[in-house]
Amino acid sequence: MDTIAAIGTALGEGGIGIVRISGPRSEQIINELFIPSKPENWKRKESHRLYLGHFRKGGEKKVIIDEVLVTIMKAPQSYTGENMAEIHCHGGALIMKTILEEVLATGAVLAEPGEFTKRAFLNGKLDLTKAEATIDLIRASSEAGLKIAASQLEGNLAKKITVLQEQLLKILAFLEATIDFPEEELPGLADKEIEAGLKSLIASLEELAEGFKQGQIIREGLKTVIFGKPNVGKSSLLNALLGRERAIVTDIPGTTRDLIMETIYLEGIPVKLIDTAGVRLTEDLIEIIGVEKTKETLKEAELAFLVLDGGAELGENDFLVFELAKELDIPFLILLNKVDLRDQVLKKGQLETVFAGVNILEISALKGYGLSELGEEIKKLFDLNKLNFRESPLLTKMRHFESVKKSLKHLTEALDALQQGYPEDFLIIDLKAGYDYLAEIVGKDADEEVLNKIFADFCIGK
Ligand code: GDP
Repeated sequence: MDTIAAIGTALGEGGIGIVRISGPRSEQIINELFIPSKPENWKRKESHRLYLGHFRKGGEKKVIIDEVLVTIMKAPQSYTGENMAEIHCHGGALIMKTILEEVLATGAVLAEPGEFTKRAFLNGKLDLTKAEATIDLIRASSEAGLKIAASQLEGNLAKKITVLQEQLLKILAFLEATIDFPEEELPGLADKEIEAGLKSLIASLEELAEGFKQGQIIREGLKTVIFGKPNVGKSSLLNALLGRERAIVTDIPGTTRDLIMETIYLEGIPVKLIDTAGVRLTEDLIEIIGVEKTKETLKEAELAFLVLDGGAELGENDFLVFELAKELDIPFLILLNKVDLRDQVLKKGQLETVFAGVNILEISALKGYGLSELGEEIKKLFDLNKLNFRESPLLTKMRHFESVKKSLKHLTEALDALQQGYPEDFLIIDLKAGYDYLAEIVGKDADEEVLNKIFADFCIGK
């Protein structure tokens, strides 16, 4: 087994930087390159303690590079489960690089991205959901995203999957016993109970699968398109939400021709805002392309804000926009803008008759009025209000979602077989397949290819 090393902290300038080492040669490498300030303490060194000293170049030169703290962490009580060491040096890119180079020259190899965590997984230190959560935690960009990742790291998703596996195993064990001892009156589960058990498992998995949508929103952000006819205040809205000038605001209709995407956080939910060219009837070729682009963008969106101008009566371009809205199969909110105008002519009441059942918010992009309610509205639309990550962990990864769906398919088939009165063998095949797909999520018997794909997504040093 190789001993691996990498810089564990970010490669910028910082107070401290950490080079981490994992594998059988960890301690040996440190012994070679570290000059302790108190040799008598270092001689009696204990695992997980920090020791002050100097780090020097290896080989002949023995030049001192930095004053450092080092720690040795003995297996299995370490992140990777192997013998590990860390060198806490000063946080300069060149210092860290030089230290790493010396470590590599003294017998370590540069770690692959995610290799520390991969080793931790292979040594049973964490399951796959936890490994994946560590990367999510590092990358989380929203409060809610952080909470989900932390909950997954705590093991809540793995726990939930394990409970489901145990329930499935109980049914499986009973069915297998019935086949092995057909003559015996086995005390155990009646058909009705198996049916109820399966139904409850299916319901739990369906709930998990449904949560994927919310998990995705929180992890990836909600793609939200702002659309409307020109000059209603789309760019102003984007700017107001961003809190800075990003889109060009003009009063010449049709100036926002290129798409702009920016992420903002509303009530902790990441919202990826996309401004679009105004939709209007026009002879101008570029404008027509803009309209087509808006339509295309809407197709990929998960939410839309239809912005209307409170300062003008409804006209033909509005109806063009309404047509677009009617074709939408995603939720949308109507934002009646410019309600600050003294001579506001378009009123909420009028719109309510056109858009029954759609929420209409009165806003002023210019004055910032009504914008604070957007977050709440979005939470309501996507059921993000009553999330309890501990009790109902959310799926955030496509990989998990796929496995849950496959497991669900087999369990539904098993239930079908049971209800049709097929022999136990039929059920068992499906139940086993359903079980295996759940096992995939936490990573039991995961094959090398899957693992490589997951860990390749990590940064070096994690
Ligand atoms: P877009 O073409 O839809 O992106 O519209 P803009 O954001 O460029 O705004 C068009 C005009 O409407 C500009 O003169 C803005 O200052 C004005 N405007 C935008 N929002 C408001 C608002 O809430 N109130 C008022 N009174 N004017 C606004």
